Amino acid sequence: MIVLTLHKGKEQSLLRFHPWVFSGAIKHMSDTPCEGDIVEVRAFDGSFLGLGHYEIGSIAVRILSFTPCDINDAFWTSRISEAYKLRQTLNLERDDNDTFRLIHGEGDSLPGLIVDIYRNSAVVQAHSVGMHYARNAIANALMQIIPSLRSVYYKSSSTLPHKAKITDNRDDGYLIGHADASVEPLATENGLQFHIDWLRGQKTGFFVDQRDNRSLVQHYSKDKTVLNTFCYTGGFSCYALRGGASLVHSVDSSAKAIELTDKNVALNFADTSRHRSFAVDAFDYLQSDEVNNRYDLIILDPPAFAKHRDAIPKALQGYKRLNAIALRKIRPGGILFTFSCSQAINKEQFRLAVFSAASIARRKVRILHFLSQPADHPINIYHPEGEYLKGLVLYVE
Ligand code: SAH
Repeated sequence: MIVLTLHKGKEQSLLRFHPWVFSGAIKHMSDTPCEGDIVEVRAFDGSFLGLGHYEIGSIAVRILSFTPCDINDAFWTSRISEAYKLRQTLNLERDDNDTFRLIHGEGDSLPGLIVDIYRNSAVVQAHSVGMHYARNAIANALMQIIPSLRSVYYKSSSTLPHKAKITDNRDDGYLIGHADASVEPLATENGLQFHIDWLRGQKTGFFVDQRDNRSLVQHYSKDKTVLNTFCYTGGFSCYALRGGASLVHSVDSSAKAIELTDKNVALNFADTSRHRSFAVDAFDYLQSDEVNNRYDLIILDPPAFAKHRDAIPKALQGYKRLNAIALRKIRPGGILFTFSCSQAINKEQFRLAVFSAASIARRKVRILHFLSQPADHPINIYHPEGEYLKGLVLYVE
């Protein structure tokens, strides 16, 4: 195995179990690894630090183990079993819920790997070449650990590094089984049903991370007029309707997302007359005069505005602008649910952007709740970067 030796002092973060080795920390490599290889990382004095997947880029190694071991079938089975044990503790497999995240990268000590479960299917997403090469071992371990699984779909075409030289097939497709094409895949979240289109949809097909926050929207929706912007498959809209909203409007710039939202609303509610959807830009929609004083509850859940650190200042401007429009337009006594899923932006920065937005809108605003990601998206305490979803619930006078 190729050994990477670090500069003196660069072992400190690994000794504190942070799972990334930056390229600048490496002093010497015993040979040139290929992207995706398992490498051993040692301190300047030769002592063992960890084993991990080698990458090309600013993060050079993502650590899989801080103790010497073989990265073999038993390793994948053991790590995935640990992750599943946590989900069992969270009681996410119930008659009214069969949708959850099983593997959340560093949060489950499996950097670069995401696995979401939708009823009898798993969707696997690799963010590193090393995880790509391990995909069949991972799929086999999943089948062994969760006996009810019928299929494992691999979907990494948009998450693998574009420039990586991958020696085998990188296409999306089933690794095990097949979902029955004549039956559309459905999943249940807190008793609501959703069509999950992992073949064509965004991410693994559904935003599992908003489950708890959707329940809070339901709690505040009784007799309210609700606007769900960036609605994607309409998760928040369905919860607001179940909560007794008098009217729910869903907005997304993607026509495909709006189609899925409409389907999901129809799947759960025999009478869809309280719901309307609009395939338009959310900024444009919010700017229109009809929105003035129209909604009691507004949800802003945009895509990540900052995908990397260089984009932070522009992203903060984007959050400020979006929140300022919504805060200006919401009805007096209204409730704003506002989110950021940009990993590069921390909760203080996001809160400051919303604070600036409130002062631009010149409304009296109080914070009711600080929201985050749910427990099946755990944060490894040694890897604070894993905390990515931030939300505020605001009361606007
Ligand atoms: N709230 C959703 C997830 C949002 S993902 C849920 O709970 O499932 C972000 C969504 O924003 C995507 O569906 C994307 O199509 C949409 N989007 C991106 N830019 C947009 C824009 N300018 N206006 C409206 N929708 C946009």
